[in-house]
Formats: sequence, C-alpha cells, structure tokens
Amino acid sequence: MSRPRTAIVIGGGIAGPVTAIALRKAGIEATVFEARPPGTQHNGVMLTLATNGIDALRAIGAEAAALEIGFATPGITLRTHTGKRLGVTPTGSTRPGSTGSRTIRRSDLYRAIHAQAADRGITIEGGRRLVAADDGPEGVCAVFDDGSTAEADILIGADGVHSTVRTLIDPGAPRPAYTGLITTGGYAPATGTATVGGDYEMIFGKRAFFGYATAPDGENWWFVNLPHRPEPGRGEVEAVPGAQWRRTFTQIYRDDAGPALELISATPDFAPMTAIHTVPKLPHWHRGRMIVVGDAAHAPSPTSGQGASLSIEDAVVLALSLRDNDSVSAAFAGFESVRRPRVERIIKAAARINNSKAPGPAGRFLRDLTLPTILRMTADSASNRRVFDHQLDWADDHRTRSGPR
Ligand SMILES: Cc1cc2nc3c(=O)[nH]c(=O)nc-3n(C[C@H](O)[C@H](O)[C@H](O)COP(=O)(O)OP(=O)(O)OC[C@H]3O[C@@H](n4cnc5c(N)ncnc54)[C@H](O)[C@@H]3O)c2cc1C
Repeated sequence: MSRPRTAIVIGGGIAGPVTAIALRKAGIEATVFEARPPGTQHNGVMLTLATNGIDALRAIGAEAAALEIGFATPGITLRTHTGKRLGVTPTGSTRPGSTGSRTIRRSDLYRAIHAQAADRGITIEGGRRLVAADDGPEGVCAVFDDGSTAEADILIGADGVHSTVRTLIDPGAPRPAYTGLITTGGYAPATGTATVGGDYEMIFGKRAFFGYATAPDGENWWFVNLPHRPEPGRGEVEAVPGAQWRRTFTQIYRDDAGPALELISATPDFAPMTAIHTVPKLPHWHRGRMIVVGDAAHAPSPTSGQGASLSIEDAVVLALSLRDNDSVSAAFAGFESVRRPRVERIIKAAARINNSKAPGPAGRFLRDLTLPTILRMTADSASNRRVFDHQLDWADDHRTRSGPR
C-alpha cells in the first residue's frame, strides 16, 4: 500500500476535524463524516485543554481554536468534604512563558475546530453514521446507515469511546471499561462564590466528587462525578429527568462543605447525565487501510484532563507519519509505536486517581493522609513535565525506523 492521497475520517468531534486539518497540511485530502445531524449541539459541559493539546494545535497552525475561547485554569485546589485543603496540582506546563491550560465549553471547542476545518476547505458531512467498511486492495469503502458509501485510500476512525471503526478493525476488541462513575454538570449564574484566578476547586465529597471553576464573568462552571453501580445500560441515566437528579444531589452533598448545593440549585438545567467509560489498552489500533485515533484508540478517564489533548496530538503525529513514510503500513506502525507508550502511561496514572474519588472511610483516611505529600512531590515532577511539555514540531522527521510490524 503506497502513500495515500485521500482519507475518510469518521467522527466530527475533536480528533476527526483536527486529523483532517493535519492531513491537509501533509498533502492528503480528507473528508469528515459525523453521525450527528448538522447543527446538533454536542452533549457535555466543559473540558480543559492542557498545554500539550494547545501546543499540538499550534504545530498545525490551528491554536486559535483554543486560545480565542474559554478561560485560563492553571491549577486545581483539592479539598476534603470538610473543606480542608489537600494541596494544589497544575493543569498544564509550569515552564516560564508556556501557554497555560484553558477551560472551554465543549460545544464552543467543537464549533471552533469545525470553523478551522471549514477555513481550510475541509468538508464535514453531518448525519452520516458509519456502519460498515470494505477494506480492499485498491482502497477502502465506507458504508453509512442511509445506505450511501464513500471511497478513499485510507479510513481513520475518530469516532470516540464507543467507536464502530474499532470493531471493524478487530471484532474481538475489548468493550470500553466502565469507571463506576456517572457525570453531569452545568453553569450557575454568578453567585458570589468564586474560585481564585480561574483555578479549579475540586472536592472529594463524602459521597461524590464535585468540581467547579469561575469564569471571568463570574459564572460558575461545575461538574459532578457520582459513583453508580452496576453499569447503566446505554441511554439509561441520560433518560432520568433533571428534577430527579436535583433531589439526588441534595442528599449526596448534604454533609459537604463548599458550594456544591448552592451552585446546583442556582443552575436552571444540567447536561444529560452520562456514564464514564475508558479504553485503557486496545490490542489492535490498525488493520489494513483502517486505523483508530483519539478516544476510539485510547480513552483515559476524564480525571487525566488529557483525553482531548491526546486526541489532538494523535492527529498531528498520524499526519506526520503518513507524510514521511512510503507506505500506509509503515506509517500506521510508526504512529502506534510513538503514541502507545505515552497514552497508556497517562491512562494508568489517571485510573489510580479515579479510584480515590469515592472510597470508603478507610480509603478516605489514607487518601487524605497521603495526598498532600503526593501533590507536593508531583507538582513540578518529571512525570508532569513529560505530559504537559510534550512538543510536536511539523519539521520533525517521522520516518518509521523499525519498519512495519
Ligand atoms: C465528563 C467528561 C469530561 C472530560 N473532561 C476532559 C477534560 O477536561 N480535558 C480533556 O482533555 N478531556 C476531557 N474529556 C475527554 C474528552 O472529551 C475526549 O478525550 C475527547 O472528546 C476525545 O475526542 P474524540 O474526537 O476522540 O471523540 P469525541 O469527541 O467523542 O468525538 C467522536 C465523534 O464521533 C461521532 N461518531 C460516533 N460514532 C460514529 C459513527 N459510527 N459514524 C460517524 N460518526 C460517529 C460522535 O458523534 C462524535 O461527534 C472528558 C470526557 C468526559 C466524558
């Protein structure tokens, strides 16, 4: 399989459009196909784009997508349910002069990335849900749920944590792992409760986790992580009305210091509740002319604050690998060998923190005893620097040295 000239990208979230932008820069024509009908808003509240994600956008000249929206959130103050401060952890690089992390409404980020793609003449076709693909010697043919098809030299699955492309590549691929947590959030009008300098406040509540940050206009952006067993069915928690969750939150946060109840009651509507899944270790990222990127390949828990940033890094590295290698198989193998160790290290670290979000009394005691020391030790640690200071340069050579595996 020689160097590709055209690509089908499945998924118009974060990884998909950014991959198309990076491929265009590498000289490969890409069209993005998104399942949601055109103009549909994406669910979810906010997310934090870390320094490394913004720097990866800069490598392809698309950083305006992040810098012109949201607000800076350089750190997170962690507290116990009594309000005791456990310590502070950075959300991005602490290098002098580096771009700080930004917290952005999810829908604004998707819109801004789509606008960057449109500026480059990239088409994102909404209402096209991939259901099958035929990977042949001359190219790949994607089949959509309306019976339509599209053809290209390669197919890139950027279709998120519940990816279809992942199972087309490997029908035996493991199911996404349920974290035991469900999540929602919202925007509370300015109430007088404010975090300092844009920093997040995150509280290990007695029964559930709560986090918020105050935007420059005083609005409080908040989210909850609730323990929930067993794993809910697809769409099950989404279907529960907001009024019912409001009653649940009143019980769950009744013993916690901090503004959880105040912010929740001031919020008119919540985002639909969703179960949080991860994709910790996928055995096969690619087969033939098809490959997965972003959450479809490796979804960390949201605790990492890295899912979106890693997806953007993937997009850039995949484009560079395809630019610098003579064959699709060498490019895909090179991409995986560069990306897998980094993403799996980050996923593992986030899973450890996730487990401390809803422990029993003994776990709580141990966490509150050890976390301050851990936070002090890791604030400017080599492992944090490896995550946040990761740099991608469009001028780098991404030829695969070990050859196809
Ligand atoms: C509650 C929560 C909070 C988070 N907070 C953060 C954070 O603070 N920082 C951070 O970096 N990350 C965060 N993440 C993770 C982050 O949202 C993901 O890592 C990121 O969205 C992955 O981007 P993606 O493009 O791979 O997938 P997505 O953004 O999920 O996009 C996938 C797209 O593919 C489409 N699609 C699916 N199936 C098909 C199909 N068959 N055909 C066509 N299209 C299809 C979907 O409609 C969707 O638009 C959070 C995640 C959650 C759940």
